[in-house]
Amino acid sequence: MVKQCLVCKELDYLNPDVTFHRFAVDSERRKSWCSLLGFEEGKVIPKFAEICSTILNINQVEGNI
Ligand SMILES: [Zn+2]
Repeated sequence: MVKQCLVCKELDYLNPDVTFHRFAVDSERRKSWCSLLGFEEGKVIPKFAEICSTILNINQVEGNI
């Protein structure tokens, strides 16, 4: 399945050097991802959203929890 970044709309097969991360499903983690990404409160995020490593530093996110 093709992955597309929720933020910058890049596609995984066009960006082999970029890692794509499934958006956190846990509500607490979703909150911290949203604040890191600068999403406004109440933004609707698709269940299977992906965020690319260009936008999201996964180590930073996990380190903040
Ligand atoms: Zn992206």
